[in-house]
Amino acid sequence: MRKYVIMGVQGSGKGTQATRLAAEYELEHISVGDIFRWNVQHHTKMGAQVKRVMDAGKLVEDDMVDAVVRDRLEQHDWNYGFIIDGFPRNASQAEFFLERYDIDGVINLDMPDSEVERRVLARRLCSQCGLDYNLMAHRPEIEDTCDVCGGKLVARADDNPEALAQRLAEYHEKTSPVLALFERKEFILNVDATRSKEAIYEDIVAQLGLRKD
Ligand code: AMP
Repeated sequence: MRKYVIMGVQGSGKGTQATRLAAEYELEHISVGDIFRWNVQHHTKMGAQVKRVMDAGKLVEDDMVDAVVRDRLEQHDWNYGFIIDGFPRNASQAEFFLERYDIDGVINLDMPDSEVERRVLARRLCSQCGLDYNLMAHRPEIEDTCDVCGGKLVARADDNPEALAQRLAEYHEKTSPVLALFERKEFILNVDATRSKEAIYEDIVAQLGLRKD
């Protein structure tokens, strides 16, 4: 059983690395942001409650976030473990989590704000199939159009300069204390996230002692 947390500012590649680790080691990838986005897209009651907060780049209130994480983990579909992405984002969420689950490692993807801005503002998503694009690294063949399904490419509602500045400020203010808390427990791995996806992945696997020979 492997239980990991992956942290890092938006745009640091958390989702990409978590997806790959999950596929390779049969872990459940749990993204709190994806759960909220699903609820917004499907117009659920929860979606209506979180949409405005999310669009402004602010954090959803702890009780709702903790309930989402608890319900998701209670599904017990994670026979080989999980990798949780985008949580905990403040000290109270971290305490809630540490009281209930033991963790084998916290992956911290480290990236300066200037690089985050450059990357996040180039991020696009297919409105139909959800495939990720980046106008710097992964451009579509036809402008604004998904290569796979032909859907229209859009920016996430919260990928605009105002919301990003708000998210970065929130991150530094609230999430850095989480790192300090985990650091005291000594299961943090710091990873330089400005490198290629491959180099970052190799570093994570090596630091977690997961390398397959
Ligand atoms: P993400 O995809 O992780 O960037 O999350 C998108 C948005 O969902 C965030 O900007 C928050 O509004 C909300 N969100 C996701 N995870 C959390 C969390 N752990 N605590 C509070 N809000 C969250």
